[in-house]
Amino acid sequence: MNKFLVFLEQREGIVKKTSIDTWNRVQDLAALYGDSAVFGILAGPVDLQQLCASLSGKGVIYHASNEAFRLYNPGHYARLVAETLKLEACTTIFFADTVLSRDLAPKLSLHLKASLLSGCTIFDVSKEVCVRCVRPVYSGSTIASFVAERSIRIYTILSSAKLFHSISEDYPTIIPLETCRLTGIEELFPVVRRMVMYSGRQDVTEASIIVAGGRGMGGSEGFVILEQLAQLLGGAVGASRQAVDGGWRPHFEQIGQTGKTVAPALYLACGISGTPQHLAGLGSGSTVVAAINSDRYAPIFDVADYGIVGDVHLVLPKLLDALHEFLKRK
Ligand SMILES: Cc1cc2nc3c(=O)[nH]c(=O)nc-3n(C[C@H](O)[C@H](O)[C@H](O)COP(=O)(O)OP(=O)(O)OC[C@H]3O[C@@H](n4cnc5c(N)ncnc54)[C@H](O)[C@@H]3O)c2cc1C
Repeated sequence: MNKFLVFLEQREGIVKKTSIDTWNRVQDLAALYGDSAVFGILAGPVDLQQLCASLSGKGVIYHASNEAFRLYNPGHYARLVAETLKLEACTTIFFADTVLSRDLAPKLSLHLKASLLSGCTIFDVSKEVCVRCVRPVYSGSTIASFVAERSIRIYTILSSAKLFHSISEDYPTIIPLETCRLTGIEELFPVVRRMVMYSGRQDVTEASIIVAGGRGMGGSEGFVILEQLAQLLGGAVGASRQAVDGGWRPHFEQIGQTGKTVAPALYLACGISGTPQHLAGLGSGSTVVAAINSDRYAPIFDVADYGIVGDVHLVLPKLLDALHEFLKRK
């Protein structure tokens, strides 16, 4: 039997949308392969009601609700995942591709002597179970196929805008896990300094709508209207590297090769040219891309589903007014 383990990442007690997507995608894989079982591991106190409302599919989720797991600690988390892996004799671990998993997965692969493939998008289901996977390389300009050679395999999966609703009528069982020993492995990964940042804003990797701005916004004041638009749409504000390097926006909003990878249902790019390094941050699952740019030949229009050629300072206020009107009528 194939046994898959999914790490469900929480922040402030809420399980991340990207982890829920990963769980659902692994459920799909298990169904395709057949004779498979899916397990989950959840670290820290979480809102179980929210979790139960968003997860479906067969499986068992182990929940270590210990306060020690509330904040990310690489040693504690690596120990917890390694013990759960042994408990169920799983051979494959899946993470959503996040800032946390980019730190945890390599540490875990070192500890478990496992193969690690990060940023995967598709698995070749015609071959041996979860051995061959595909991921974008060279800033997303091409895709390459990789083979995991070790018996234990770890994958981080790029987020996808594809929404899975009620893929199954089954629901996973949640079992409290109290017994994890918190000594040993953490000495390998000591925490030197812990910084907890609360921006109060929705994370771009979790948002289903992103209103992003680039150099064409003209300065930090240009982003005020993007904030208003994002708030109205229930989305998040993103930025190009030029906007971040210019000090107009914080780095955690940067999308692209050296920023975050996102997969919203709607990506509105305002005053962004659309270089390969920026587009590398648009996960393969991003559904609708809309762009506003004054240059009709800007490369962003090559990937956009909808485009407006115009000055953002003229177009955006009109768009905001139209949205207000639309929402008033609803
Ligand atoms: C190793 C490496 C990594 C990188 N990583 C990233 C990354 O993670 N993310 C990222 O974004 N970039 C990254 N870059 C930088 C990238 O190459 C580009 O420089 C950057 O994406 C350009 O940002 P931009 O589109 O905001 O600015 P520009 O390329 O200067 O484009 C501005 C656009 O705004 C339009 N415009 C100007 N005024 C207006 C107006 N009034 N109304 C409407 N449109 C207007 C212009 O026509 C233009 O198309 C990286 C580069 C390197 C070398």
